[in-house]
Amino acid sequence: MAKGSESKKRIGVMGGTFDPVHLGHTGVAEAALIEAELDEVIFMPAYIQPFKQDRYVADGSDRFKMLELATIHDDRLKVSSWELEQETVSYTYDTICHLIEEENYKDIFFLMGSDSMMQLERWMHGEDLLKICNFVVGLRPTNVRKQVKEEAKRLSDTYGTKIVLLEKTMLPISSTIIREKVSEGQPIAGLVSPLVEEYIYANELYI
Ligand code: ATP
Ligand code: MG
Repeated sequence: MAKGSESKKRIGVMGGTFDPVHLGHTGVAEAALIEAELDEVIFMPAYIQPFKQDRYVADGSDRFKMLELATIHDDRLKVSSWELEQETVSYTYDTICHLIEEENYKDIFFLMGSDSMMQLERWMHGEDLLKICNFVVGLRPTNVRKQVKEEAKRLSDTYGTKIVLLEKTMLPISSTIIREKVSEGQPIAGLVSPLVEEYIYANELYI
């Protein structure tokens, strides 16, 4: 597709470590396609997540392949290897600037869970990020909707950004729980897509 045509799309970008991707992540993307009327969502796995620099994370190629498997059923869900290719700490602000300046995207919605939104101003260039894109936020059951709603309003009022808080509450799933379960030999069916589950076992991840 010609790069110029990207400008007309309402596009979602979801960043994260995705170690591994689970049904909570795809749930945010699927709800955002409907509730925020997005045309597509690009999953953008981080090479190194700024807040997880001291932690062991699965190889980028494994995390990327699991994302491909988790999104194979829906053409509107894409995966980008751009942050992985940079081979440096991944700052969302740099990624969004790249998409705007080099890929010609105009209407970008950054997708995140409510735990991330509550920390957004502490991100590198967080305040600038709040000025250059809009946000779609999925409520994680670990946060209280009223508090998240108030923080979303404060951020919108302060930075003039649009923040869509999804109506649907997201699933109580985290990658941490999945890694723990796999290492303890407990089942993870219903937490990740069956293809991702198969990939984790076939490649002996998280044991
Ligand atoms: P970890 O437990 O390793 O931190 P995680 O499940 O939080 O993993 P991340 O890769 O850290 O996943 O998160 C990427 C993005 O997805 C973040 O914005 C996070 O808030 C969001 N997210 C993760 N799980 C959920 C969920 N169950 N519901 C809604 N958003 C989620
Ligand atoms: Mg997390």
